[in-house]
Amino acid sequence: MKIVFHDKYLPAYDDTPAGASNRLEPSLSVLMKDPTYEFVIPEPAPIEAIHRAHGNGHIRKVENNNYGSGLFDISLLGAGGAMMCAEFAAEGIPAFGLIRPPGHHASGDSCWGFCYFNNIAVSLLHVREKYGFTRGVVLDFDLHTGDGNINILGNFSGYEVINPAAPNERDYLYEVELSLKNAGPADIIVASAGFDQGISDWGGLLSPESYFSIGAMMKKYSLANCSGRRYALLEGGYNFPEMAKSVKAFCEGFRD
Ligand SMILES: [Zn+2]
Repeated sequence: MKIVFHDKYLPAYDDTPAGASNRLEPSLSVLMKDPTYEFVIPEPAPIEAIHRAHGNGHIRKVENNNYGSGLFDISLLGAGGAMMCAEFAAEGIPAFGLIRPPGHHASGDSCWGFCYFNNIAVSLLHVREKYGFTRGVVLDFDLHTGDGNINILGNFSGYEVINPAAPNERDYLYEVELSLKNAGPADIIVASAGFDQGISDWGGLLSPESYFSIGAMMKKYSLANCSGRRYALLEGGYNFPEMAKSVKAFCEGFRD
C-alpha cells in the first residue's frame, strides 16, 4: 500500500487544531516502522483540478487568507496528495493520504471546520475526468458530518456519501457494514478518514480494533465491487498519539 505524504505537511500552518504542530508526527512514525508501506511524495494540485470542485471566488479567498501564502500552498499540496491517492487507487493500488489540511467541510464556495479545499471532491472529480470513474462511494467516518462532500458531490450524479451516526461502537460498525452492503456498484471507494471519533479523542466512540474493522470492510467492498480500487484521506483527529494508533489499525485493515 502507498502512503502519500510530504514533509511540508508537518509544520503548523494555521491556528486550528487540524493545523497544529506535532499533529502528524506520531502517525508518521508508526507507519514508517512498517517497511512494507511505500511512501510517495505528492505535487501541489493544479488550479484546474481545484476548480472542478470550487468556484473562483472561493479559490481567491483561500489564496488571500489571514495566515499568509503558506496556507494556500499547503492547501494545494493537500489536494495534490488526495489526487495522487486517487490515481493509485484507479490503478488498483490502495493508498492512504497522510495529508492536511482536511477537506470535508469545504463546499463549492465556502469552507469552515479547519478545511479549505475539498480533497475528497477534487480527487474524485479528477479520476472522473481522467478515467471516466463516474460512480463513487464516500465513507466518511469522521466525528463530524462532511457537509462539503455532500454539497459538492451532490451536484454530480453517481456519488453516494455515507456518514454513519450510530451512538455506540457496535451499532456504528453494523451501520458501516449495512451501508456498504446496500451501496450500489461503484468505480471507486474513498474514506473521509477522520479519527476524531476515536475512543480517546473528541467523539470517544471507536477503538483501534474498530478502525481496523472499518478498513477491512472497505477493502472487502472494493474487492467485490470495484476491482479493489480504494483510498483514504485523513480528515480530523486531535489526540495525536491516539490518532496514530487508530491510523495504524485502519491501514492494517485496509491494506493489500
Ligand atoms: Zn471532525
